[in-house]
Amino acid sequence: MANPRSEAWRPSDCHNCPVPDILLANSNPNLVLEASIEKGFLGFNRRVVVKAFCSKHLIDVAKPHVGCPECAKEKPGLPDLFDNL
Ligand SMILES: [Zn+2]
Repeated sequence: MANPRSEAWRPSDCHNCPVPDILLANSNPNLVLEASIEKGFLGFNRRVVVKAFCSKHLIDVAKPHVGCPECAKEKPGLPDLFDNL
């Protein structure tokens, strides 16, 4: 993803990029991910930082792996499904 505030991408960054994991963990189409590279002390410890945002509820999502809490409320959970059987 292009992010003007981020450090320039390097191919090695993809190895520790958390975005594919997040996409696997939740299938919310409203979740907008913004990835950026942050450099640690003296340029060591480069890491990919991902911020998540819900485009439907317009709120920041603190835990990208979990997804938007408001969207989760709207989706019928497994207990609800079993209640309807
Ligand atoms: Zn949402």
